[in-house]
Formats: sequence, structure tokens, C-alpha cells
Amino acid sequence: MWTQRRVGAGLLTAALLLPVPVSAMQQAFQRGSPRQATGSGVTARTLVLHQREERREFNGFARSLRAQFRRSNGVTRASVERVIKDVLLDLRAHWRLETRTRTIASPFDFPDL
Ligand SMILES: [Zn+2]
Repeated sequence: MWTQRRVGAGLLTAALLLPVPVSAMQQAFQRGSPRQATGSGVTARTLVLHQREERREFNGFARSLRAQFRRSNGVTRASVERVIKDVLLDLRAHWRLETRTRTIASPFDFPDL
């Protein structure tokens, strides 16, 4: 369960893991979806762009996690793969919700490591 309180920490983690600075990500969210502030339905195009951006973030998250544990033993690497898979399942649930409600929820909260 992702809580609002963890969003800040999640963004910070994402900033550490990703080459894209947090401020640039926030600007992209604001620029790309001016209607999200109202919470009303966004266009399909906006939704696709938003989810593509989140997919990019996920790929960066998975890549850096694998790189970090590349030299670990097989059990640890299997755990890392499990975490990546769980995050992907959460992200897909997040996308399902957004697509069903035609809204952009708060940026996906990648877990603290
Ligand atoms: Zn989203």
C-alpha cells in the first residue's frame, strides 16, 4: 500500500536512481498534464504519455537495482528480481486504475531501498 507520506521519499529515491533530476520530472508532469490538478478526466494521449514516462522510470529503477547487486550471490539476485517483479505488478495496477478512471494519479511511488 503506497501512502502519500512515502511519495516524498519515493521521489528522492527515484532521484538517486535515475539520471533525470526530480525537478525536471515534476516539470514534465506539470507540463504534460495541465488538467490533472482538477482531477477530471484527461485525454487518452496525456495518459499514454504519462504512462510511457512511468515505464521509463521503471526501466531505470530495474536497471540500477540489478547493477547494484550484480556481484551478489544467486539468492540475493533472485530477491532483487522478485522486488522488481512486485514493483511492476504494482505499477500495472496503478496503470489499470488510471486507465479505468481516466485520471493521472500522483506519480508512481517507487519503493525505498
Ligand atoms: Zn501514473
